Amino acid sequence: MEQPKTCLQCGKPLRGRADKKFCGDYCRNNYNNQLKADSTNYVRNVNHALGKNRRILEDLLPAGEKMTKTTKEKLLHHGFSFKYITHKFTNKNGSTYYYCYDHGYLPLDNERYLIVHWREE
Ligand SMILES: [Zn+2]
Repeated sequence: MEQPKTCLQCGKPLRGRADKKFCGDYCRNNYNNQLKADSTNYVRNVNHALGKNRRILEDLLPAGEKMTKTTKEKLLHHGFSFKYITHKFTNKNGSTYYYCYDHGYLPLDNERYLIVHWREE
């Protein structure tokens, strides 16, 4: 026996066409507005995390230096999120750098990281 379908927004049982998803326009509009708000929030959160990551890398890099070493502990302590990067770059030696905009890191051994600042050559 098939389960009676329910409105995606309010959960009321649906009658009528088999492909119906909402009990009415009110619920359809609310549902779609919610989806849009969720995806806007998601983009905002990711942008915020990327900006924060970039700032942490920038702060850890001494002014005027091209690179510096740090530890995973230090990065996490500042609130760095390894989940968010803007892009990767693999150099000709096969080392992959993970970037947040113009600042990046290269994982080293023993949970250490090399922080670098991208410069156009
Ligand atoms: Zn409904």
